[in-house]
Amino acid sequence: MAKIIIIGAGIGGLAFAYKYQGTDEICLFEQAARNKLGFPWCDSVKAEAFKDTEIPLPGKGVYKKKYIHMYSPSCTVNIPQRKKTVKKGYEIDRVALLDHLFELVKDKVTFCFESKVTGLAKSNGKVTGVYVGSALYEADLVIDASGAFSKLRYFVCEDSADFEPNADEILYCERTLYKADENIVKDHLDAVYIKHKGGTALSWCRSTPDLEQMDVFVSSIGAPLTPSYVQAEEEDMFDRNAALSKTVIQKRCERLALRSPLSQFVYDSFAFVGDSAYMTNPVNGCGIENAMRAGAILADVLNKKHDFSLENLWNYQVKFMYSVGSNLVALDVFKRWVYNVVPEDIDWLFDTMIGAEIVAFFSGSSKKPLNPKVLLDKILIAHERKDLAPQMFKVVSRAAQAKTYALLIPAKYEPKLVDLWKTRYNDFLRKGE
Ligand SMILES: Cc1cc2nc3c(=O)[nH]c(=O)nc-3n(C[C@H](O)[C@H](O)[C@H](O)COP(=O)(O)OP(=O)(O)OC[C@H]3O[C@@H](n4cnc5c(N)ncnc54)[C@H](O)[C@@H]3O)c2cc1C
Repeated sequence: MAKIIIIGAGIGGLAFAYKYQGTDEICLFEQAARNKLGFPWCDSVKAEAFKDTEIPLPGKGVYKKKYIHMYSPSCTVNIPQRKKTVKKGYEIDRVALLDHLFELVKDKVTFCFESKVTGLAKSNGKVTGVYVGSALYEADLVIDASGAFSKLRYFVCEDSADFEPNADEILYCERTLYKADENIVKDHLDAVYIKHKGGTALSWCRSTPDLEQMDVFVSSIGAPLTPSYVQAEEEDMFDRNAALSKTVIQKRCERLALRSPLSQFVYDSFAFVGDSAYMTNPVNGCGIENAMRAGAILADVLNKKHDFSLENLWNYQVKFMYSVGSNLVALDVFKRWVYNVVPEDIDWLFDTMIGAEIVAFFSGSSKKPLNPKVLLDKILIAHERKDLAPQMFKVVSRAAQAKTYALLIPAKYEPKLVDLWKTRYNDFLRKGE
């Protein structure tokens, strides 16, 4: 019987533990106390994540998704989310989701809470265990599922660019739950604002699924939030959202690392799962789904072949790249552009390029095909902004290219081929070559 150590009791680590069918001993180290885990709010998750991974949905804390209206920076235009996306999604209570995953794995995992893994033990390039302070715990396989700010990258990755996220890859956010005005909240339009009030990132004002609270999110990229930044955003939200009262139920600050996906997330006896290997953007809210998928794919590979060598673990990375990773790479290119584009340009895109027909078509509220004249008009309008149109075209083509590179991942672990692929992939993503 082998010993597997999982680092982190998040979605990815627990999804792996649930899907793994081997009879090995599984030990999970979590830095936090059991009652401090999870976020005290609901987050969006696609229904497919549960269907495809065959992880059962929690019995409680699962709600229907509501429409989100995406607002331009000056709030002159808003686009409702696509009907199809809304139908296929849930809002899930994060604490209930974790409780459910714990319940599913409780008989097969030994949990060590308040045990922070501080390092990896290695011998001849192979990971042989973890350190919790000065105590060494040996293992045949170590899975790093410790989230977006994993410090364990230092012990295995060769490229220093992979260690810490750059300043412009950190999203600082504050999420506050306010009491909702019960007389108005039913008619409230859930709003997501892009670069609201000249901000650098996203913010939102949504009602919680039970309609008792308003969920207000403010974020900035590259620099911590300042009181004046938060105040400017919130003042405008109070003006626009009548259901928002000033009674604070709770407030919590978090950070997210929006860094590029690693080019290699498996080594001998070691694998990264979930946000420790990549981080996507909160706009499309697929962090939970991707962590579930990664855990399930890794388990599936090891269920087929009980072999913790780099060669076998590579099959996990290849499968992940095909099903999820290549899209994350394309998104990475796109999101960097969005973060850098000035609010005035986003306003121009919303105000002139996106009209009623386009909104109706993409949101699914009209089944009519787009009138070719509308499209022709848009091409002519795009021509007015000679700087922006080629920029957008370049981004779309770079995103497609990035996806193509990602999909060229060698199907088998051949060191020379893998090194060549990694170099080209990293040059493309990080240096833009
Ligand atoms: C404000 C906010 C809003 C979000 N909204 C959404 C959304 O709507 N939809 C969505 O899909 N995703 C959303 N996400 C992202 C989502 O939470 C993550 O993508 C997902 O939780 C990743 O799962 P994970 O298992 O990789 O890591 P995590 O869930 O981060 O779990 C990592 C665990 O490892 C532990 N840990 C860290 N270091 C160590 C160590 N050294 N030793 C031991 N334990 C350690 C941590 O305490 C933690 O419990 C949001 C995140 C935030 C912060």
